Amino acid sequence: MVSLPLIDRASADGVTFVLSPGRGEMASPGGYEMAVLPAAPRIPERALQPGEQYRFHFDMTKCIGCKCCVVACNEQNGNPPQINWRRVGEIEGGFYPDTKRFYLSMGCNHCLEPSCLLGCPVDAYKKDPLTGIVQHSPDACIGCQYCTWNCSYGVPQYNPERGVVGKCDMCYGRLSNGREPACVNACPEGAIRIEIVDSEEWRREYAANANAPGLPSADDSLSTTRLTLPEKLPSDTKKADFWRVRPEHPHWPLVVMTVLTQLSVGAFAAIWLFELLGASARLSIAALGSLTVGVLALGASTMHLGRPIHAYRALRMWKRSWLSREVLMFGCFSGAAALYAGSLSMGFPLAWVLGALTILLGAAGVTASACIYLVGARPAWNSKHTVAEFFLTGVLLGPLFAASIGVGTSRLLTLISLGAASAQLLNQAGKFLRLTASDSFELQASAKLLSTVLRSPFLARAALLVAGGIALPLLASGRRGLIAAFLSALAGEILGRYLFYVSVVPKNIASPYLSGQKEAA
Ligand code: SF4
Ligand code: SF4
Ligand code: SF4
Repeated sequence: MVSLPLIDRASADGVTFVLSPGRGEMASPGGYEMAVLPAAPRIPERALQPGEQYRFHFDMTKCIGCKCCVVACNEQNGNPPQINWRRVGEIEGGFYPDTKRFYLSMGCNHCLEPSCLLGCPVDAYKKDPLTGIVQHSPDACIGCQYCTWNCSYGVPQYNPERGVVGKCDMCYGRLSNGREPACVNACPEGAIRIEIVDSEEWRREYAANANAPGLPSADDSLSTTRLTLPEKLPSDTKKADFWRVRPEHPHWPLVVMTVLTQLSVGAFAAIWLFELLGASARLSIAALGSLTVGVLALGASTMHLGRPIHAYRALRMWKRSWLSREVLMFGCFSGAAALYAGSLSMGFPLAWVLGALTILLGAAGVTASACIYLVGARPAWNSKHTVAEFFLTGVLLGPLFAASIGVGTSRLLTLISLGAASAQLLNQAGKFLRLTASDSFELQASAKLLSTVLRSPFLARAALLVAGGIALPLLASGRRGLIAAFLSALAGEILGRYLFYVSVVPKNIASPYLSGQKEAA
């Protein structure tokens, strides 16, 4: 009997080779010919029953990292090379000379509770009730990228050329016609298959075994993908590029939008306070200035959308999406602020009522803004420090803006800015301590970014905050000093918001699955 490694490998994949004495002209006397029996099916051979859905099964023991699945997926979906709806990551562990390397191929996990779907402001996602496949509609998508922050596996990917996000739909069309998804079909090792899972059974198993090897962590979106891990996987197994963390995208339109909306809300609060205290000088000018800043901020936010012409659709899911609520609240805030500014100019006696409404709507808008970032997939954002940072930006910049226009007494405004700047400094220090003290890789990696590649802007942000919020308001006198303080504090908050976006380290596709050495259930 002849032993050939490739035949052994194919046999492990379910392909049976039968070696028998040769026949015919080409066969050498005493030679062999091969008869190939059909491979095990890679998609289910029966229809789904109620309560069941399709899922991927990935067998890490079979994958050789050839990336045929990635190429096939890109070809099937017409994606450019830099966008991969299926990705293959390298996994390694152990100590020399006993080291191991494996590969992890992942598309969408077609989760039972898809977090991508929950935040979308235009309802572009749908979990198909018949197959359980999570589908995305590029026609409905406005390219806000919120779903890319919400998925713990980094699955939805933004395509700047199309201005929309896209993701794996398990080749829904092919599957409907009884054909394997492109990745499943292309895999030479049979490492990817589609199988049927009973949703409730999987949910129960999940509740009992979440965080176990081969299963993602309990705080994610109930991924349905099943993994078979190799035996004796080294306990320190992790992504090969685990320690390579890079700054994320800065999202400049959002830096401008969030800082300026918070400034505008804070400025209206300062104006309203001085109106109640009986001041009248330059109130209407400051209100018009604050309104202009708020409107500019909302305009800047549309530049973040891949399809800004469809920005109005973002209001659609206000019952569910914080992004829709943010748009709604800031839209109402702008309307109320315009009415308040108008009534201040005309000396309307009940202007303060409109002022109170403006502040309430603005505060609701800032709250909605902050809640957008409270997502489990980006741990550095997901804390009360984010909410505090957003409100303190408004409390710091708003009064300084009003003061630099000449509203009220600079003494009171100086006290407010001192308090806000000190609180912001403490908030940033508390956030950094939380990052460094955490056991979580993502939080530690954020701290590492801030103390290495981002150290200079991190220190400059603190210096500008101290200068604009504490030193200049205390030391400088007159309008010029207040303007300098405002500009310094504004630069500090813009730099701080830039750091907020670039220093976050998202959860990656592999880490939730690799917490031990056993095979997944
Ligand atoms: S893996 Fe991400 S994109 Fe896919 S269904 Fe789950 S949450 Fe949505
Ligand atoms: S509209 Fe935004 S959240 Fe919805 S799918 Fe498109 S990019 Fe994702
Ligand atoms: S095609 Fe198969 S063997 Fe190759 S990387 Fe993808 S899953 Fe692994």
